[in-house]
Amino acid sequence: MIEVKDLCFSYSSRSKPVLNSVNLTLSNGEIGILLGRNGCGKTTLFKNIIGLEKSLSGDILFDGINISKLSRKERARLIAYVPQHIHFGELTVFESVLMGRVSYFGIRAGAEDFAAVDTILSEMQLEDYAARNVEKLSGGEKQKVAIARALAQNPRMLIFDEPTGNLDIASEELIIDEVKKLAKEKNITILCSLHDLNRALCFGNKFFFMKDGEIKYSGDKESFTLETIRDIFGISAKIIDIDGQKVILGRKNYE
Ligand code: ADP
Repeated sequence: MIEVKDLCFSYSSRSKPVLNSVNLTLSNGEIGILLGRNGCGKTTLFKNIIGLEKSLSGDILFDGINISKLSRKERARLIAYVPQHIHFGELTVFESVLMGRVSYFGIRAGAEDFAAVDTILSEMQLEDYAARNVEKLSGGEKQKVAIARALAQNPRMLIFDEPTGNLDIASEELIIDEVKKLAKEKNITILCSLHDLNRALCFGNKFFFMKDGEIKYSGDKESFTLETIRDIFGISAKIIDIDGQKVILGRKNYE
């Protein structure tokens, strides 16, 4: 279980806080979606969780352990991050995924690391791509490699910043299915930011609505109300029901 407790953060002592007493809890295997307008603090929260930024106050606990006390390597084995834009450089798919093992092998990879990469490539159906230059793959394929690299860390939690950003609808669905499977089969906790509210509803089972560095609302699918959407995104929406599934329409969809 990850517990973020009263987390406060500011980029400099003179600027106003970007995270204001953020509280967030996710059980193992749960998929949490972070929603909010650009600039509300989603990426900053992720960076605090993975240790790229240091909070002013508050705690981040994983299964009760304060993760700020862990070394970089220990933290990398617990939490993997898939950023929005990934530049792998001139590497093959195999080498890119092997990079995810750095927290295990240090300087030189061993047989165990190669075997772990083989397993992940096979699980993600990427074996045929192993020798290809990763920068020459499509957006969806690259995204899969990024997830494979994160999985090579063998983490208990995966954090995704807008995983479906530039993907076509088929690649988007593929990635969402893959990630859902991971959460279920490997009991990996997922925390992910998404802009598309309907994608969020299909993907997640817990939702956190963020505004001005605060989580203002959270809960299950019932937390998607017209009032919440208006407050967080400043839009009037409509919520309809299609085969028992909530669908959110922006004003432009029904006027
Ligand atoms: P989101 O991911 O929700 O779009 P961010 O966490 O990227 O939001 O940004 C939150 C706020 O912090 C914004 O006002 C942004 O301009 C500011 N910010 C982000 N990164 C930095 C940085 N490195 N230095 C100073 N301010 C930053």
